[in-house]
Amino acid sequence: MTRIKQIFTHTRLVGVVFNSCRRFHAELVRPESSGLPIIHHDKYVCELPPSHRFPMGKFPRVLHFLLKDQVITEKQVWAPEIASKDLLSCVHSEEYLKTLLNGTVHEEEQRRTGFPWSQDLVRRCRYETGGTVLAAEVALQRGLACSTAGGTHHAFPGYGSGFCLLNDLAVAAKCSMRSTKRKVLIVDLDVHQGDGTAFIFKEEPHVFTFSMHCGKNFPLRKQQSDLDVSVEDGVEDKEYLATVNAHLPRLLETFRPDLVLYDAGVDPHWEDELGRLRLTDQGLYQRDLYVIKTAVSRGIPVATVIGGGYSQDLDKLALRHSIVHRAATKVWNDCEL
Ligand SMILES: [Zn+2]
Repeated sequence: MTRIKQIFTHTRLVGVVFNSCRRFHAELVRPESSGLPIIHHDKYVCELPPSHRFPMGKFPRVLHFLLKDQVITEKQVWAPEIASKDLLSCVHSEEYLKTLLNGTVHEEEQRRTGFPWSQDLVRRCRYETGGTVLAAEVALQRGLACSTAGGTHHAFPGYGSGFCLLNDLAVAAKCSMRSTKRKVLIVDLDVHQGDGTAFIFKEEPHVFTFSMHCGKNFPLRKQQSDLDVSVEDGVEDKEYLATVNAHLPRLLETFRPDLVLYDAGVDPHWEDELGRLRLTDQGLYQRDLYVIKTAVSRGIPVATVIGGGYSQDLDKLALRHSIVHRAATKVWNDCEL
């Protein structure tokens, strides 16, 4: 454990300066460590038309359950700033950002994202992206940080898709590489392929995209990640965990990332409305614990996002999404970060 501490202390001493992310630095001036950093903003959420299938209400409930169950205290909560247009332009095209921010998105485009355009929706996505950027930055300083949103991996540079308007993982990865060319490993265990992220980084040697997903699930047309692991419908805990185990340590040892961005989507759960796998709550907890511990025990900082999860029972879903924060808390305490 001492070794882990030394590595992270060293990371702090050498400083973390992102040219494009200076706006977040004020947030980092916290003299005392007050437990695992949880990144959350009230504006992670917005109104949707009644009976819209996206479970928007899950975001505040994740924080609610973490506080209610005394997994965290309010002192641990860090609020991100909204992602600026300048920041987003490191991934997204000028034209796309213009239409998105000005509300001139065509109806066909709106259908592809699954969301009717609104100012509040765009604001929500920008805060969510700011949250993932802050989680990455804080993780580099403290070893581990978890947002209560994020994982919008279907967004491409020039268009949104599948409930994803902005690719927060890609913006955070670009941002953390900008000044020092850090190497970033994106571990995407959402049940759907991280197609947008794979496309964005297909020719970027400093970012490795690892997507493990259900092969028969959305998107129909897959992109090529640096490593795609496609699993069959109906896979259960044991086989799933063995598959993660078969790849992750090797990736960490060969690619040797400076940061892991972990998309802990809960849609591989057996009750998920859009997943086709059969993981249990315990399986998700074991998965999250394994991913975080395997990286952190090697001195590699981890920032987590919640990824996808679909259920009409918002409390049940939010509790499921809070599994990653519970697993991260265990690693934080065990590793004395
Ligand atoms: Zn998903």
